[in-house]
Amino acid sequence: MRLFSAAAFLACLRLYSQTDTIQLHVDATDVTSRLYHIRMTLPAKTGPMTLLYPKWIPGEHMPNGPIADLVGLKIQAGGQTIPWRRDSVNMFAFHIDVPAGASTLDVAFDFIAPPETGGFSSGSSTTPQLAVLSWNQLILYPEGIPPDQIQAHATLRVPDSWRYGTALPIAHESGNEIDFAPAPLTTLIDSPLSMGRHYRTIELGSDNGIPHYLNLAADSDRAMELSPELITEYKNLVAETGALYGSRHYRDYHFLLTLSDHVAHFGLEHHESSDDRVGERTLIDDASRKIEASLLPHEFTHSWNGKYRRPAGLATGNYESPMKGDLLWVYEGLTNYLGEILTPRSGLLTPEEFRDALAVTAAQLDTESGRAWRPLEDTAVAAQILYDSREDYTEYRRSVDYYPEGTLIWLDADVTIRQLSKGSKSLNDFCRLFLGGESGKPALKPYTFEDVVAALNAVQPHDWAGFLNKRLRSTEPHAPLGGIENGGWRLVYNEKASDYWHAYETEKKLVDLSYSLGMLVSEDGMIANVLYNGLARKAGVAPATRLVAVNGRQYSPTLLRETVDATAKNSNPLELLIRDGDFYKTYRIDYHGGPKYPHLERVDEKADLLSAIIAPLRKP
Ligand SMILES: [Zn+2]
Repeated sequence: MRLFSAAAFLACLRLYSQTDTIQLHVDATDVTSRLYHIRMTLPAKTGPMTLLYPKWIPGEHMPNGPIADLVGLKIQAGGQTIPWRRDSVNMFAFHIDVPAGASTLDVAFDFIAPPETGGFSSGSSTTPQLAVLSWNQLILYPEGIPPDQIQAHATLRVPDSWRYGTALPIAHESGNEIDFAPAPLTTLIDSPLSMGRHYRTIELGSDNGIPHYLNLAADSDRAMELSPELITEYKNLVAETGALYGSRHYRDYHFLLTLSDHVAHFGLEHHESSDDRVGERTLIDDASRKIEASLLPHEFTHSWNGKYRRPAGLATGNYESPMKGDLLWVYEGLTNYLGEILTPRSGLLTPEEFRDALAVTAAQLDTESGRAWRPLEDTAVAAQILYDSREDYTEYRRSVDYYPEGTLIWLDADVTIRQLSKGSKSLNDFCRLFLGGESGKPALKPYTFEDVVAALNAVQPHDWAGFLNKRLRSTEPHAPLGGIENGGWRLVYNEKASDYWHAYETEKKLVDLSYSLGMLVSEDGMIANVLYNGLARKAGVAPATRLVAVNGRQYSPTLLRETVDATAKNSNPLELLIRDGDFYKTYRIDYHGGPKYPHLERVDEKADLLSAIIAPLRKP
């Protein structure tokens, strides 16, 4: 948060009160009824005009602006109501005729904030205790002017006694009214705000005068009582990014972390902040904390990789043009890798927890049957249809695999650079070269595949185009595990689950038998998925059915785990009674291998590059 002096505020008003600025007033005092009331004044000219609602949301890589929740639209000029007509093809466009003599339009509408749902920023964003406000949902803008060239002057009324945080500079505050400094529309939309009854702001330290904040909004005060050690680890994260990238492209940075079981759970990156949403007890429950440990490192990394540097196909300069996702294995995949290695570098996971998490990723990808038909590159191209794809047969369909497989590919690249350069170079050098640049306010430098290859070659000459294309276009049955293997480790399976695995099953509320029976069962008995090449499917079990009984006894997670444990010691087939709609059937699986869980095992003959990669960079 930043406060301007009164004199500066008056100067701003004079400068921006002209008609070329959109005046936007959002009344959020009704947000606990899940309604925002919006009033806008826009400059206009006599004749036909089109107003647009943002459709392609940066960072979500999809045309998912929540247009269906814009209601109560009323447009006036000089006190007269003007009829509007929605475009019959583009559902996000409203056509009007501006009457002679009118130079401004008054627009009013409401936005319905959705109840509990999944999804991203257009999913559930409010509870009776808090809300996360995304400006793209609360604004219309004129067609024909690039959003960077539209000035928006926003004011906001928050519920009484609620506090808030945002990276958007504030000109003036009075009671529960906030008057923001006018900003380009792109900056406004890039600067969400969190608010709530239970709110806490923690300073995470300054670097070269640039401050960092952890803004917590929660459904309870207890949820925000994180340990001093965890705060120190988040401060380490700030220091580690400075050591890795050598620059920052923001005026200040806000982690807007929302802690609630009743909002959609995800992270969404912005230049100067991130909208991070997790379960209420994530910061105080050990299992949840471990599973979500890399969320803030991931979203923070996007300020460099995704916001400052962005694939040309995703840098459209507006909210209407379709985005092209073919380089998402850099935008998201490299971010996934960097977020995951920044996590142990900052102390947010131990090296052992990091390796156990990497083993889970490696095993999932290495056993995916969909690898045989769908190259990784296609998961990036098809991102806009995969984010919402169902869980059943997901390992045959493949999902947004450019995230986890990005980790494997960039680890492979990191290890390759370290080996070829005999330890004198690493992917850290690539990050500084490709993602670093000059420090300053937010900027955008688009790139192409050739730019990525050129930067890798500048660090360490190699056939990088061949290296990347081989991995991106492969339909080989196994995942690219070269980074793990040449990094001094190997993927193995044994009967003992790691602590990280226990945390994963607890947090996801499931029993994951992927590597034994080839199925995943939720705690309530829903068979979330079966592996296409697994024993369960071969026995006839379908996903999205319900497990009722195991060997004739009522299903429970403990019973299922203990029954699989016992398979190594007896010769009887396992019997699963399954309900599919109105029908019950017993399936027999002849399995005697006991439980199987993935781990990374040290290979002593090879140098331990993996441990070198996750060692802290910051000076003590
Ligand atoms: Zn991301």
